[in-house]
Amino acid sequence: MQTVFLNSKEIDQAVAFLKSGQVVAFPTETVYGLGADATNEEAVKKIFEAKGRPNDNPLIIHISNIDQLERYVESVPEVARTVINHFWPGPCTLILRKKGSIAPSVTGGLDTVGVRMPDHPVALELIEKAGVPLAAPSANSSGKPSPTTALHVTRDLNGKIQAIVDGGATGVGLESTVLDLTNPERPTILRPGGVTFEELEHVLGEVWTDDHLTDASIAPKSPGMKYKHYSPEKPVWVLPASLEQTIKVMDQLEKSGKKIGFLVSDEWFEQLSNDSRMGQTLGEKKTPQQAAARLFSSLRALDDEDISLILVEPYLKVGIGTAYMNRLEKAASRIL
Ligand code: AMP
Ligand code: MG
Repeated sequence: MQTVFLNSKEIDQAVAFLKSGQVVAFPTETVYGLGADATNEEAVKKIFEAKGRPNDNPLIIHISNIDQLERYVESVPEVARTVINHFWPGPCTLILRKKGSIAPSVTGGLDTVGVRMPDHPVALELIEKAGVPLAAPSANSSGKPSPTTALHVTRDLNGKIQAIVDGGATGVGLESTVLDLTNPERPTILRPGGVTFEELEHVLGEVWTDDHLTDASIAPKSPGMKYKHYSPEKPVWVLPASLEQTIKVMDQLEKSGKKIGFLVSDEWFEQLSNDSRMGQTLGEKKTPQQAAARLFSSLRALDDEDISLILVEPYLKVGIGTAYMNRLEKAASRIL
């Protein structure tokens, strides 16, 4: 298949592809999504094929107006309305009981569906003009770091999908928060993301997190969270929290012949960089938003370098740092 490259003024062409049951990659505020008409089973199956995604990993549906929500979920509890008022459009996916003509593959056999309204003009125009919700996971090959530019999508999916709409680099850089509201008394974060625990707690009073996020021996409630994720080809190791220890670790690794690539805050970068190492910065330590926005693209960039190992600085698990650490720990084969 010849993949067609479109710019954000050529949305009508992308809409035509979607209406004819094809898959199209498009920008959102989190990462690039790979979209198909969520009511068309054949179209949705093409997403799983192109990505090599296991079919028990359900897809999020993306909507552009609240009427669509009412059409595809059984009811919208008060707690959902509060979250929507504060965070939509935005990076917060709500899990609710499904109804209506959502294609079965979207939900992988579950009686619930994940829904969100993306905060990106291209995504919203595309959904609105398509006139149906778009099922859309991240537009990468399954298991790889999520794409934050159209070029990343091309690297993974060129020739496997109908079109890519290029809308520039995405802002948040990590996926949405997945919030389970099937029990409205107990709003539960299944996956940390762009809207933080603290922000949700502030508007809801009390918020829970799925047990598997704090105890790795417990099976996740969100089916997709059990799979290996976000990994470049080269092994990723999480550095110790102390700079002193990191300096020692890097010296030892280099003595044993490893060629290191590293990804750290500005503060650490000054102390660690030298001519024989390949480094990238995550921005100032006090702005974890920047680290979140750069993580996936930096992992991809370092993967292309002549190195044997990628070492990444940990951040505190507060605010967006929680989502950053969740993705980093899933990408990593070792935590030092
Ligand atoms: P992705 O769009 O690839 O970033 O992944 C979507 C995430 O949402 C995966 O972790 C899915 O398992 C999760 N998800 C989607 N739908 C549901 C659902 N109905 N119940 C629980 N988790 C879901
Ligand atoms: Mg994904």
